[in-house]
Amino acid sequence: IMYTEGRGWHDAEVLPYGPIELDPAGMVLHYGQAIFEGLKAYRQPGGGISSFRLTANAERLRQSARRLAMPELPDDLFVRSIDALLDVDESWVPAAGGEDSLYLRPFLFSTEAGLGVRPAKEYRYLLIASPAGAYFPRGVKPVSVWLSREYVRAAPGGTGAAKFAGNYAASLLAQAQASDEGCDQVVWLDAIERKYVEEMGGMNLFFVFGSGPDARLVTPSLSGSLLPGITRDSLLALAADAGFAVEERKISTDEWREKSASGEITEVFACGTAAVITPVGRVKSAEGEFTIADGEPGKITMALRDTLTGIQRGTFADTHGWMTKLR
Ligand code: PMP
Repeated sequence: IMYTEGRGWHDAEVLPYGPIELDPAGMVLHYGQAIFEGLKAYRQPGGGISSFRLTANAERLRQSARRLAMPELPDDLFVRSIDALLDVDESWVPAAGGEDSLYLRPFLFSTEAGLGVRPAKEYRYLLIASPAGAYFPRGVKPVSVWLSREYVRAAPGGTGAAKFAGNYAASLLAQAQASDEGCDQVVWLDAIERKYVEEMGGMNLFFVFGSGPDARLVTPSLSGSLLPGITRDSLLALAADAGFAVEERKISTDEWREKSASGEITEVFACGTAAVITPVGRVKSAEGEFTIADGEPGKITMALRDTLTGIQRGTFADTHGWMTKLR
């Protein structure tokens, strides 16, 4: 779908997958107005196809657009773009029963040719899709994380709360550093004090304090520089449904280390659309490393994972009305 200032959204079409044309002066190549979303569609046990939290993703795309001075794609066009894609061939959505889904990637970028730094007057919205298998084909395995003190992902007043392409470009070097340190993922800290936990590369973080029915779940509050994850938001609700106390607050790396050592923090997990829920087993930083409990996936982590994936695959009741029937 194209956008032209003064004319609005126009020329929606479905094209065979392939290269697209862009003017060499296309403003996205120079000034980077590019935002995206990620969501999944699941085939349901009784037939039909549903997607998880479609309107939350449409709304976040509009919020990202506002931050990047881009036009907001209306929610009905967002939904229609997904419908149009499934109209072409709904067999792209994998069969029900397994871990498979269709990953949908809506994105919006500036196309106007121009070398002046200002919001572009022309944009293009595209949707591509790819079947996605199990994130952990050999079962859920805890990840190790590197606390990045040298690089920051986002600062107050910046673009961290938007799903903005440049945030990911800025994170690549730190992710490479994490790999060099033998870790799977980078954990971002706040830009000012480099002390408070923000989020992981493409996932939000949760800390479980205590165990059993008295366990409490803590997740870093939306500081303005971390992405308001839709999985994060969903798990806050599901954890409360399960009777756990949930808290959104600041959590420092010192608290993480000390309370892991004392056994007060019993589980840590990361969550996002791609991996759903991933346990964190080991934490490394310039000061040394430590493990969370015995480094294995925790009970509450795995129970929440079962609930969330059950809702997405239609085997658990969708009490929050998060599934949108597409077919
Ligand atoms: N943080 C970042 C930086 C991400 O890219 C993602 C993935 N979209 C998340 C968190 C998790 O967000 P969601 O649960 O909406 O996928």
